[in-house]
Amino acid sequence: MYALALFAIGFFIALQIGRQQDDTVKRTQVALGTLIEIQVRGMERVDAWRAMDAAFAEIRRVDTLFSTYTEGAPVWSFNHTADSVIALPSEVIALMRRCDTLTRITGGAFDIAVEELVRVWGFDGDAPTVPDSAALAHALARSGWTKIRVNESGLVEKSPGVTINFGAVAKGYAVDRAVAVLELHGVHEGLVNAGGEVRATGGTWSIGIQHPRSPSELVAVIDPCGRAVATSGDYEQYFEQDNRRYHHIFDPATGMPARSCQSVTVLAADDLTADALATAVFVMGPRKGMEFLQRDPHIEGMIIDEQGVEHSTPGFATYRTR
Ligand code: ADP
Ligand code: MG
Repeated sequence: MYALALFAIGFFIALQIGRQQDDTVKRTQVALGTLIEIQVRGMERVDAWRAMDAAFAEIRRVDTLFSTYTEGAPVWSFNHTADSVIALPSEVIALMRRCDTLTRITGGAFDIAVEELVRVWGFDGDAPTVPDSAALAHALARSGWTKIRVNESGLVEKSPGVTINFGAVAKGYAVDRAVAVLELHGVHEGLVNAGGEVRATGGTWSIGIQHPRSPSELVAVIDPCGRAVATSGDYEQYFEQDNRRYHHIFDPATGMPARSCQSVTVLAADDLTADALATAVFVMGPRKGMEFLQRDPHIEGMIIDEQGVEHSTPGFATYRTR
């Protein structure tokens, strides 16, 4: 028996409660496996639409670039080749290098070389199940960033069968790119929300953090004040088997879904970082995760542990409006 919930609907409900001006233009499209919402204020409608068209196009471009499903796309090709040295577009290499740093600073909690785990648990399809231990061990042997290396010539070397998935950062990266495109089109007040990974430019905004066990409830409302915010939870993609919840955020060390959090929200200067660190802190769990968040003065966060208890960095309250 399983239930699969795909959208962080709470975020979209939440945004409605924000200060609404008459000139707010709001549009949504589906991309990156979720609902993308863009809002723009303070502009002629026609200019706002033009800026939003360009931002949505940028999100679709990023989606294809990092898609594991699109045949012939870079990540798909990387995952399906028998070659051990692979050339990739410079933008993918650049993101890989940023992910390499994120893996290092999170002690391996964040690791894009988890696609074999995604597959063995069935999260690449619509009927995920618990794998048997032999299948899990086989997938683990083909997982882990230590089995991949970006060499000096910008080529990627990998051990046989190792595959990647940018799912924990693609939305954050796409949001960063989309905000940059809005700004290029003269937008001074805008917001992009990709299923709970959010970045705003200018103005004040209200972003609701969905309650991990009660989808219509909010645990907090924040104004990111020009920064980015991302939430990782065990309630977006999960199934239940024998009364246990299994979800899509894996501890790379064990290949099992990380157990000790229900949700993690991270505030950072950019949404790629917020997205990656929300996933990583989720894996670390509340104790190590809170230590990690408190170490960096530019990062704030809130962890809801497996009992539903909230833990926030002292600075998180600054962004909280409710
Ligand atoms: P969501 O996409 O629901 O916001 P995340 O940002 O946490 O959630 O990303 C989860 C996705 O990232 C998974 O579907 C999987 O593709 C990939 N992933 C799972 N575990 C990890 C991990 N430890 N590090 C990096 N990526 C991961
Ligand atoms: Mg993430």
